[in-house]
Formats: sequence, structure tokens, C-alpha cells
Amino acid sequence: MTEARRRPDRPKTLLTVRGREWINPAMARLTFDAPGFTPTEFTDAYVKLIFDDEGPVLEDLPERPTTRTYTVRSHDPATERLVLDFVIHGDAGLAAPWAARCEPGDQVLAQGPGGKWGPAPEADFLLLVGDESSVPAIEGALERLDDDARGLVILDLHEHAFDLTAPAGIEIRQLVRGDGPYREERLAEEVATLPLAEFGDVQVFAHGERGAMKALRPIFRELGLSPERLSISGYWALGRVEDEFQAEKRTEIGKI
Ligand SMILES: Cc1cc2nc3c(=O)[nH]c(=O)nc-3n(C[C@H](O)[C@H](O)[C@H](O)COP(=O)(O)OP(=O)(O)OC[C@H]3O[C@@H](n4cnc5c(N)ncnc54)[C@H](O)[C@@H]3O)c2cc1C
Repeated sequence: MTEARRRPDRPKTLLTVRGREWINPAMARLTFDAPGFTPTEFTDAYVKLIFDDEGPVLEDLPERPTTRTYTVRSHDPATERLVLDFVIHGDAGLAAPWAARCEPGDQVLAQGPGGKWGPAPEADFLLLVGDESSVPAIEGALERLDDDARGLVILDLHEHAFDLTAPAGIEIRQLVRGDGPYREERLAEEVATLPLAEFGDVQVFAHGERGAMKALRPIFRELGLSPERLSISGYWALGRVEDEFQAEKRTEIGKI
């Protein structure tokens, strides 16, 4: 990308860890003091946390720092507290191992927020598809729905289901694979069984592992969803660290 086309830097907020709570053994919820953080109205709002191999980088940032992306699960303007949920996916990586081990008082720089999606109240049916990494954004969307909203949540999960709250008209399917192998076709197979064309004006939010999102794309293309009704992208890629995967996304071949 040329210098002229680069997005201006989003503001940075210094986050200080207040505490950690385990949502389940694979999801750590961290609450931070986030003075000066400016939230947005979007339910997919995210921040980019800045790391190097040693952990968070707080000063002397390189021109292109290594970042890891996390959804703003909630923000309380009164207390200026920010909550992020981290999938703990083993020992690999920068952000997840840090989130599993950090202590109150530890700090990390967050750049953002970015994001631009929210549920459309006028849609007839909302389809939310993803995995552990998109649960924070999906929960944020569920909290925003009207009581009479209709829709379906489909999650491809490794070992642990989530305790999700949703209006009565939203069905929740949590496909826990346990010891079985990860299969990127699994979400697409489930979505392919749905009579989506009968559901009226359908809005889709599909985010998760890159291969799984790629397998879903033709189903939504065939349904003829307009770009305003389809939000789809990879949140992570199997076997690739985030920098590698985000760089791929910027190439023609890497686009979903
Ligand atoms: C807009 C956006 C919002 C996101 N929101 C969240 C969020 O709220 N919570 C969240 O946990 N993640 C979220 N993600 C995904 C997160 O940014 C990636 O999972 C990221 O790779 C984690 O960084 P890491 O340093 O832990 O692992 P990396 O160093 O990037 O990767 C190390 C290894 O772990 C694997 N890996 C990475 N993520 C996962 C995973 N979820 N499950 C299994 N294996 C994985 C990689 O394939 C790689 O082999 C979001 C991503 C985007 C783009």
C-alpha cells in the first residue's frame, strides 16, 4: 500500500490490567482500565494490541508494530473500563499466552477502535456464524437485538460451549467437536442445510477461521446477498500467526 493510501493511525490507549475471569477453560476475560478510550456504536468494534516477542510494547514503537486484534466486548464510559475476551488456544502466539498469564497492573497499548458492523433492526432474519474468536462480537450483537428478533447462531467450537443469552426467536447451535479434527467445511455444511431463501431479508455476520469463511462464501454468493447484508472475513488462520495472515489478506489471492 502506498503511503498516500495508508489509513491514518487510529488513537492509542494504554490499557492496565485490573483482573481476569475465566469464561470457560479456553476463554479468558480481561478487564482493563482504559482512560481516554473512545468507544463506537458498532458491535464488531475491535482494538489492535501491540506486542513483540517479549510481550507488550509500550514505547519506542517500530513503524509497523506487530499487532493482535481483539473485539471490544464491552466498555463502560463511567468507569472507563474496557473488557476483552481472549481465546486461549495453547502455548503458541503472543496475545493469548500473555492474556493467560498477565497480572493486575500489567499494561498493553491498544490501537483503535476499528469496526463498522451492527445488526440491522429492519432485517427479517439474522445469521451469526463463527467460532470462539467471534463469540465476543456475536454476544455484542445478541445484546443489541430487539425482543422479537429472529435468527440463528452457529458456532464451530473446539471443546467448550458458551452460556449465551439471546431473544427467544434466536436459535443457538454450538457444534463442539471435542477430540475430532478441525474441518474448515463444517460451518459451510451446517449453513448449507438452512432454507435461507425462505427467511426473507437475511443479514449475515460470519467471522472466524479463514478456511471456514472461504468455504461459506459461495453459499452466501448463491443467495445473492447484497454487500450491506453480508459481513464475512477471517479472524485468524489455521497454522499462521496474525501478521502473516493479515498480510495475505492484502493480496489478491488472499481475499475471501
Ligand atoms: C476484527 C477481529 C476481531 C477479533 N476478535 C477476537 C476476540 O475478541 N477474541 C479472540 O480471542 N480473538 C479475536 N480475533 C482473532 C485473534 O486476533 C487471532 O486469533 C490472533 O491470531 C491471536 O493472536 P495470538 O498472538 O494469540 O496468536 P498468533 O501468534 O497470531 O498465532 C499463533 C498460532 O495460534 C493459532 N491461532 C490463532 N488464533 C487461534 C484461535 N482462535 N484458535 C486456535 N488457534 C489459533 C494460529 O493459527 C497460529 O498457529 C479477532 C480477529 C479480528 C481480525
